[in-house]
Amino acid sequence: MKNISVIGAGTMGNGIAHVFAQNGFSVTLIDLNTAQLEKAIATIGKNLDRQIAKGTLTENEKSSTLKNITIVSDVSEGIKKADLVVEAATENIDLKLKIFKQLDDAAPQGCILATNTSSISITKIAAATKRPELVIGMHFMNPVPVMKLVEIINGYATKKEVTDTVVELSKQLGKVPCAVNDYPGFIANRILMPMINEAIYSLYEGVAGVEEIDTVMKLGMAHPMGPLQLADFIGLDVCHSILKVLHDGFGNPKYAPCPLLVNMVMAGKLGVKSGEGFYKYEAERKGWVVSERFGRYRDDNLQG
Ligand code: NAD
Repeated sequence: MKNISVIGAGTMGNGIAHVFAQNGFSVTLIDLNTAQLEKAIATIGKNLDRQIAKGTLTENEKSSTLKNITIVSDVSEGIKKADLVVEAATENIDLKLKIFKQLDDAAPQGCILATNTSSISITKIAAATKRPELVIGMHFMNPVPVMKLVEIINGYATKKEVTDTVVELSKQLGKVPCAVNDYPGFIANRILMPMINEAIYSLYEGVAGVEEIDTVMKLGMAHPMGPLQLADFIGLDVCHSILKVLHDGFGNPKYAPCPLLVNMVMAGKLGVKSGEGFYKYEAERKGWVVSERFGRYRDDNLQG
């Protein structure tokens, strides 16, 4: 493995390119949006500076990391020499199926096609290609340069050798791989999302306010962040779509997204990315405050 192509230069794509490049791989970062590619390189530069400030990286390592990354806006061109492609484009099933057909047509024979999807079936994505045995989930966590876990997801047809290769590769990146099978939500989101949904139900039913729910989970369970704040960071639209995958996939009503979450997504209150979710995020202040919506309703039953 030498040449890695990363599809999508958003939040996850820039982090994935960063860790591969820092570990000596030759990375081609691909996005249809050229402004996004420029932004990704700037973000990687800033994140490398942060590592230098912490004393975990030298200036020389920063420049060799940046030299290892090439940016390209044409997918077929960018994957011509790839040994591994990691797809981190927008979480949309139709888009992913289209991209994987294109990858299958243009990637070299034997090239492993991985997806960073949070919830879409690896088996379904693999079925869009003529090489399902070489398709696998490589689910990095956000922020990629910091978080140790890579959830490796075996599709129905994934070859054992492919899993072994991707597990070894993740270790080379200094990550801890965990291999799991392909069922809705895999492990990370199958467990995390019901917890977040239950926290939202607790707020919706007036059991407690935003701060109380998050404080109980932070101090009581030693979670670094409360579930409502974490939901704001992940994006409430993303939480909603993962819960829908769990609900549709298992047909079990326990996964139904809380009506309050559904309303917030419809109202465009998506968390950090929109400036407001359970908390309000203002650019000029560090930190956050509970949204007035919940301050006001704190003692009431939100179903009313
Ligand atoms: P994002 O919206 O920040 O970035 C997606 C990028 O994909 C955009 O820059 C867009 O221009 C690009 N793109 C769209 N269509 C493309 C195409 N056909 N070819 C090339 N580029 C294309 O999204 P993100 O948060 O980085 O998520 C990417 C993937 O990672 C999703 O599958 C998501 O579920 C998964 N994921 C996200 C997180 C997270 O915390 N954000 C965590 C784990 C996994």
